[in-house]
Formats: sequence, structure tokens, C-alpha cells
Amino acid sequence: MKRRELLKTATATAGALAIHPLATWADSVPSDAPQEADVIVVGGGTAGTIAAIQAARAGAKTVLIEHGSQLGGTTTVGGVAFPGLFHAWGKQIISGIGWELVEQTVTMDGGKLPDFARPTPRHWQHQVLINPFLYCVLAEEACLRSGVTIHYYEFPHSVQEVAGGWLVESVGPGTRRRLTCRQLIDCTGGADIVGMLKLPRLREEETQPGSMLFKFGGDAFRAGRERLQAVYVHGADSSTSATRTQATLAGRQAMLKQLRKRLQAGDGQTRLLQMQPEAAFRESYRILGETVITREDYASGRRFEDAVCNAFYPIDLHTQHGVRPKPLASGVVPTVPLRALVPKGSRNLLVAGRSVSSDRLANSGLRVQASCMAMGQAAGVTATLAAQHRTTPLDVPFEEIQRKLRDHGAIVPGSA
Ligand SMILES: Cc1cc2nc3c(=O)[nH]c(=O)nc-3n(C[C@H](O)[C@H](O)[C@H](O)COP(=O)(O)OP(=O)(O)OC[C@H]3O[C@@H](n4cnc5c(N)ncnc54)[C@H](O)[C@@H]3O)c2cc1C
Repeated sequence: MKRRELLKTATATAGALAIHPLATWADSVPSDAPQEADVIVVGGGTAGTIAAIQAARAGAKTVLIEHGSQLGGTTTVGGVAFPGLFHAWGKQIISGIGWELVEQTVTMDGGKLPDFARPTPRHWQHQVLINPFLYCVLAEEACLRSGVTIHYYEFPHSVQEVAGGWLVESVGPGTRRRLTCRQLIDCTGGADIVGMLKLPRLREEETQPGSMLFKFGGDAFRAGRERLQAVYVHGADSSTSATRTQATLAGRQAMLKQLRKRLQAGDGQTRLLQMQPEAAFRESYRILGETVITREDYASGRRFEDAVCNAFYPIDLHTQHGVRPKPLASGVVPTVPLRALVPKGSRNLLVAGRSVSSDRLANSGLRVQASCMAMGQAAGVTATLAAQHRTTPLDVPFEEIQRKLRDHGAIVPGSA
């Protein structure tokens, strides 16, 4: 067929079938000039929510990008509404914004805080049972009140280093936006941004299982008064949408199997009362930071010179066969150095949360919620000061970071 005839036929067919040009969601929303921010936090989970509130309260124009539809991450979406540990050996070692939200949630929910003054070898007795629905909405309120701009349903599609900071292209259904910022905080739980930037990350061949949380019973699930049940999801990996899908499908099927088993055993009263929307993930990538916290550092309670917060929890590595927590020796309180929040060789970039630079055993204790919140607050302060001084996090005078953290209610190891 000659070219002219081909075109004639194609035009006629297109008219008859109303064929549209190739359409993409991104074309439907043209990208405008980039929006400017001082600090962008990626991931509105346990650490990221606190990082964003802190940055905004300290005066940074802050944007929070979260690919889900609510704040709190593993604490709320994952259903692990049992944060710890804010207290060690009879005194408070982590306070600040995370603690403020936890306390507010318990008070408003008519709940009860544990008796922290009474020492206990059972660490979970000092964890705080919270209502995840209330926590999530109070955290959201705190973000909005402090001026954080929240972009739900979005994730960074590209991150590019530009003069004085970053250009981030964030996408979601029907949305494509470009943002610039001076400082970026990666709170994705798996160091996604660090990975996109091809900076080094650490990962084990075998990782801890994730869990799917749910509640079987006869009555309603009593949020804030009881914990959920869980099944392990071996091989659960939060790295990509494909691996997340796999883990969530496996978790739901495992839960369904347990439900059928109970019903077949004649437990006719059992109903599925609560099921979290996705699996909760314990381990994927950690960053290789300017400092790597080792098990020895953690277990000896090493006081780093640039410690920005405390941490406290037994070494808690889950395997195929379960978990046997190894409590810390009496009086030991580990610390987290700023350099463990800074990816090696990076500028204008911080990480907070479970992907903190640490070896596997140290990480199994550091990854809990109170320390993730404290790291988030430290990253929020440091990023804000770096943005204000037009410098990179490690060049901010450390005393200024300590002072600002204390001004915002945080406990900083070794500072008055
Ligand atoms: C089953 C289980 C039980 C646990 N039990 C306890 C416990 O009892 N007490 C305790 O204190 N700790 C517990 N932990 C540990 C603790 O809950 C987590 O390690 C901690 O909450 C992790 O916080 P995070 O901020 O690093 O990550 P997350 O809270 O997981 O937050 C990551 C956030 O980033 C978002 N995100 C990810 N990638 C992107 C992207 N590319 N773009 C945009 N957004 C993104 C996610 O949607 C999420 O909101 C448990 C963990 C698990 C899995």
C-alpha cells in the first residue's frame, strides 16, 4: 500500500472508531514551575511524620510526600500501635514530638500510660498501647497546624541534585509536580531515595519476616485497649510495589488459612473483626552512613560525640523460628549519632527511621518506634538549620542542633 493510501485508510478508521492519541495520566496535568520548599520529607510514617512536624515548627517551609493515604506508617497502617521505648531504668530517655503525640492520643482516648517508674524485665510492659486511628488523625492535625504541606498518594519519580539542593519530581494518579528544596529527608523505611541516588545501602541475604496484623473474635476490635494478632510473612520486602504486593497477598492468605482452621475446628463464634490494609515490614535496606552503629556500640551504650538522641530496646532479631529478645545490661542506654543519619558521601540529605546506618543486630533494637520518632525529630531540626544556613547537615554547628532539639522538647544525650 502506498503511503498516501495508508494515511487515508488510517484517518478514516480513526474517525470511525474515534481513536484517541496516546494518552497518559501525566499529560493530563501539565507540570508548572517547580514549587519551592526548604525541606522535603519523603515517607509520612513513624519517623517521617515527626521529621516534618519538627521542620515546620522550626520555621522550614516543609513538604511531606507519602504514597499512602494516612500518616503513621507501620504504627498505624501496619497496625503496630504499641510504641516503645520512651523510658529506661526508671527515667524518660526519649521525649519531644513523638512522645507529645503518644501522650495526647492516650489522654484523648481515655487510656492509661504504664507505670514507668516501676522497673520491669519485661520491656513490653513499658510500651504504650495507643489507638492508631486517633494517633493518625492527631499527627495529621499537628502537621497541618505547623504548616506542613501534605501530598498523599504521591511518590518521587525522580530526584536530581541541583545548585543548593534538590529537584524532585513527584507523581501520583493524575498528578505530576516538580518541587525544589534545600534539604531532603528520606523516611521511606527502606531508604528508597538513597537507592534512587545510587548511594550505598546495606542489606542482608536473609531478612526478618514481616507480619500481617488482624483480629479474630466475637466482639468488636477495641482499638487502644488491645493488640492485634499477627502471622509472619516470610520474605516480606518493602522495596518495590511488586514485592509489597507479594507480601500483602501472602499475609492475607495466611490469615485466611488461620480463620478457616478455627471455623473448621468448630469455633463458630470467630469472626474477622480487623485486618490491616497491608503487611508490616521489619527489614529491607539500611543506609551506609558516615558512621555505622554496631552491635557493640549498641549493647555497650556507646555515647557518640554527635549523639542526637537515645534509643532503648532489647536486641530483637526475628527469624523463621520466632524471636528471643536479648535485653540490654542494667543501666545501658544506646545513643544515635547524627552521622548515622547521613548517607556516606552525600550532601543535603538525611535519613531517619529503621533504615538508620547500623549493622543488623544493632538495627534490630534501633528500629522501634520511639527511637524512629526521635531520629525523625533530630533529622527535622538538622535539615531546617542546614537549609537556614545554606549549608549541608554535617556543617551545621552541633551545639546549635542540640540547643534547637532541646528547645523543642527533645532529650539530647549528654547535653544540659
Ligand atoms: C510486625 C512488626 C511489629 C513491631 N513491633 C513493634 C512494637 O511493638 N513496638 C515498636 O516500637 N516497634 C515495633 N516494630 C518496629 C517499628 O514499628 C518500625 O520499625 C518503625 O515503625 C519503622 O518506622 P519508619 O518511619 O522507619 O518506617 P514506616 O513507619 O514503615 O514508614 C515509612 C513510610 O514511608 C512511606 N513510603 C515508603 N516508600 C515511599 C516512597 N517511595 N514515597 C513515598 N512514601 C513512601 C510508607 O507508606 C510509610 O508511610 C514492629 C515492626 C513490625 C513490622
